[in-house]
This record gives sequence, structure tokens and C-alpha cells, in this order.
Amino acid sequence: MKKYGFKSREVKSIFTKRNNERKLFLEDFTINPYLGCSFNCSYCYINGSKYAGSTDSYYVKSNAIELTKSELKKLVKNNKKGFVCFGSATDPYQDIESELYLTRDLLKLVNRFHFPVHILTKSDLVLRDTDILKKINQPSTNLPDDLDLDTKVYVSFSFSTLDENQRKIFESSAPSIKRRLDAIKILKNNDFKVGVSFMPILPFIADSNNELNKTMAIFSDIGIDYIVPGSMSLFGNGLNDSRVKYFNLIKRYYPEHYEDTKDLFFNKKTSKYNNYPPTSYQNNLLRRISKIAEEYNIKTSMFS
Ligand code: SF4
Repeated sequence: MKKYGFKSREVKSIFTKRNNERKLFLEDFTINPYLGCSFNCSYCYINGSKYAGSTDSYYVKSNAIELTKSELKKLVKNNKKGFVCFGSATDPYQDIESELYLTRDLLKLVNRFHFPVHILTKSDLVLRDTDILKKINQPSTNLPDDLDLDTKVYVSFSFSTLDENQRKIFESSAPSIKRRLDAIKILKNNDFKVGVSFMPILPFIADSNNELNKTMAIFSDIGIDYIVPGSMSLFGNGLNDSRVKYFNLIKRYYPEHYEDTKDLFFNKKTSKYNNYPPTSYQNNLLRRISKIAEEYNIKTSMFS
């Protein structure tokens, strides 16, 4: 019996090719099998976006398999290599995946055409597909010529906090922190590279040196291979969007940070909210994280 309701939609394309310099997440090509996401993170760009409307509504791309097969065939024919990244826009292991196996079927295709993968997720459901990931991580998988890497499977777990109470507030339907940390440990035993996308770091809640130290100590204990840190972004136009949702939660659960949080995004020159905090805040945060991560011997890039 079906547990999750969903709508499906035929799309024109599923496969995005990056023509420019390789980005943060080894995303030479990206595949997102779903539109929208059931994990319902308050800060998610999907809230209020034209693509899905809200994290309460999501769609399955009904022609994902045919499109991906055709794109992968073309890449092979043109001798193109590169990492296929799952999860650049929405979570490939959101709830419906446990029923549909769509990400799993796409991974099988990626394996058939010998491409390496990077999976970004908040879900331990990725463990279900360890058998396919092991096949992808075989010598037959072609790495891009410009990369000197010793593995063909990267899995990055996404966190905005390691505090379970905070997770329940800001990522109400996402898998628990414990499930994610346990999954990292299991995947690490399979010779994959396993790291953390530590973003968005919650301003005034998870971004102090003290909190960052505690976080990095936990990541270090479980032996992650890297973190990719990033500050908060809040997109919206003032309706039911990520900025409104996030500010409302701060007001309710962290009233002492409400004004500071709003100020961080408010542009006094334009009297409007920006999508990002000031560059000075972002740079300061990244500088502090890099320093603390270095102390714990954790790389802050997937490449170096
Ligand atoms: S898991 Fe990612 S895509 Fe899904 S709601 Fe959260 S931030 Fe958005």
C-alpha cells in the first residue's frame, strides 16, 4: 500500500551540465529526480520559489529515467567525463524515495555508464543503495581527467545544526541528527568519501566559536573526510517563503535573537531584506570555521 501521496510531472530536462569551473560539490552534471522536498526545512529556498511553491508540495519527475539514459548515452558518445551530483536542488532521498526507488534506479543507470557520483542528502535512506554505490566505486568507473581522486563515490550529509531540539524546530520532517551521524559511520566503512555540507549555519544559534568547536569535535570523532561550510541564505518576497518561515520560528523559539536575525538580512540602504547576510558576516564565519576545522584536522573542501 502506498504510504506517501505525490504528484508526477513530465519535465523537459533533468540533467544539468556545468560548463564553467568545477563548483563546491563536484557537480559536473546534476540530477534532481524530484521537484520540491518533503523534509520541510524552514530555511529552504523551495519555500515560495516558482519551482515547487513550498516544501509541503512535491513532484516526481515521471520521465526521469528516459531523460537520464539519453543524456548519459550522449555523454559517453562524446567522451565526456565528470561527477554526477544528486541533490543539488532537492533531497534525492526524501520520503517518497523509500517507495518509488527512483534515485536508486537512476544510480543504476549512472553505474551502467560508468560515471562517478556525489550524493547530497539529509537521509540515511542512502544506506539502502550501498550495493550500487559499491559497484560505482569500482575501477571501471571513469574519473574526470583533471581530478586526482582515489574514490568514485562521495556522500555529503547536510546539517544546519547538531542539536536535535533545533533540528526539530528548523528541519521538522528531516531525519534526526543521530540517524545522519550513524549513516556517516556506516558509509565510512565502505571506502566511500563521506563528508558534511554544513549549511546553512544558523546565525546567533550555531555560529559562535563555542558552538562551532562543539560541532567540529563531533564531526572529527566520527571521522568525516571534509566539510563544506556555508552561511544562511533566506529567499523570499514576504509571503509564505523561507524568510517569513524562518523569522517566525526565531520569534517563537529564540525571541532573544529575533531582532539581530532580521537586522542581519536587512539592507538599510534599500530598506529591503537581502537574500544573504552581509559579505563581512559570511567571510568572518568562513574564516572562523576554517581555523577551527584545521585544528580538528578536517578539510573544508572536497578537493584538497
Ligand atoms: S532537505 Fe534540502 S531540499 Fe529538502 S527541504 Fe531541506 S533544505 Fe530543502
